[in-house]
Amino acid sequence: MPQTLTRRLPVTDDPDTEGFWQAAAEGRLKIRQCRSCSTYVHLPRNHCPKCHAPETVWHEVSSRGTLYSFCIAEQQIDPAFPTPYTAVLVELEDAPGVRLIGHLPGRHDLTIGMQMVIAFDKLGDDVTLPQWHPAQTDRTVL
Ligand SMILES: [Zn+2]
Repeated sequence: MPQTLTRRLPVTDDPDTEGFWQAAAEGRLKIRQCRSCSTYVHLPRNHCPKCHAPETVWHEVSSRGTLYSFCIAEQQIDPAFPTPYTAVLVELEDAPGVRLIGHLPGRHDLTIGMQMVIAFDKLGDDVTLPQWHPAQTDRTVL
């Protein structure tokens, strides 16, 4: 029996993360920030891990970052993510220490420290996914 290729989509109406997904649908990137000490809080939660203040709010940051790490997956595990693909970890330009994971189809000639930008890919009526790409020309080497 042929296997159906189904990509799992993120839950966008969770109270802890819906602000992130709403911003992405508008083409913006938002990260939670402590209202008291301005520490960025990622993964999002209501309490600040630094000063323990009970209030964090969504704060818009730029859609740019620096490549912190990456790996190229060659072994097929999930049929929704055909190989090869490149998993990236990018540190946000406006929020040092905050890193977001991304997925790039294919093999890419990347260098740690290179500039990355987000494109907002609309995957459905309710889901827009921020996707990292190299800031300069795409250097896919398939
Ligand atoms: Zn704080």
